[in-house]
Amino acid sequence: WNLEALNSIFQKKLKDANLTTSIRWVKKDTLGRVLEVFGDHTSSFLFGMQATPIQLGLLDKHLLESDFDFSLTCFALKNWDRLFTILCLLLISGCCIATLYHSIKTEKRAGIYREQFTHTLVHDLKTPVQVIKKDEYLLRRYLPESIEGRTLKLVDTMKEDLEVLSQKIDTLLTTMITADGFKINVKVFELNVLLEKLIQLHRKIASTNKEIIYHLIPSPDVNFIRADPNHLYEALSNLLENAEKYSGEQVKITIEYRKIKSGIQISVKDNGWGINEENKRYIFEKNYRINEGNGVKGFGLGLYYVEMVVHAHKGKMDVQSEIGKGSDFIITLPQKWK
Ligand code: ADP
Repeated sequence: WNLEALNSIFQKKLKDANLTTSIRWVKKDTLGRVLEVFGDHTSSFLFGMQATPIQLGLLDKHLLESDFDFSLTCFALKNWDRLFTILCLLLISGCCIATLYHSIKTEKRAGIYREQFTHTLVHDLKTPVQVIKKDEYLLRRYLPESIEGRTLKLVDTMKEDLEVLSQKIDTLLTTMITADGFKINVKVFELNVLLEKLIQLHRKIASTNKEIIYHLIPSPDVNFIRADPNHLYEALSNLLENAEKYSGEQVKITIEYRKIKSGIQISVKDNGWGINEENKRYIFEKNYRINEGNGVKGFGLGLYYVEMVVHAHKGKMDVQSEIGKGSDFIITLPQKWK
């Protein structure tokens, strides 16, 4: 026999099994010297294989080596059941990953909608409640002295209910501050437009038994700001509300903003009662109130919320205050200047 005869027998066997591959046969002696070669096959890098050398005969102990390309068809035919299982598993895993990805995306979108909805809700509820509070005050003032009994009781109940509603709205706002942090939706917008809108609202809802002057000092260097407009609006609204609440009959509130190296500073300054050094350290804590607000209604959540908003923007919150002179709450929001 020779290598050519061996090759033709082997190729016939392959043909019977519906397979084709070219083989290079090599016969070597015991010292590894090539004695005979048949076939011009050169193995490819990817599928090239070498069979374990076979010892030929008993006396001369020649070795037969063979190089061939691994046949994918052969592999597929032999392992079709395993391949099918792997394919099914891959398909199922793919479906699971796609479903998971889809539900995460939906959940994220739902979270954003939920937050926007709460914002709109808080904002839309807060304004009418404050307007009704003001109306309640006027109603009580213009009621004839002689009024008593059922009518007076109705006005009192209205006031109590309004307080409860106010508390619920504030709680709603603070529930937005979740344990895993505060999510903000940063946009670029005109700061002056937001502040004008804010002052306009406060002029509408401000207490009627006080004379309040709002003074906005615009900055020629700042037009646009990068921040969450809803949260910033709500935070500044809290500062304005406090400036109105914790002050005398003649209130002067100055809102000023300026460009600094690290960002934009917004300050809300009042000529109110002021805060002493000791209390300055605690006013941003949840539910902290100085002497229970000295008779002024509140829940100690306003400044806590303001600080959370500033913190979420990676900003800084400062307060300068002197008893009897007033307070200045300064928010610094980092901005990237080109
Ligand atoms: P609330 O107003 O509901 O009490 P805040 O968290 O807004 O809650 O304020 C905490 C406390 O800080 C208030 O009870 C008040 O005593 C004090 N405070 C806040 N703002 C001012 C201010 N502009 N002037 C004086 N005191 C203030």
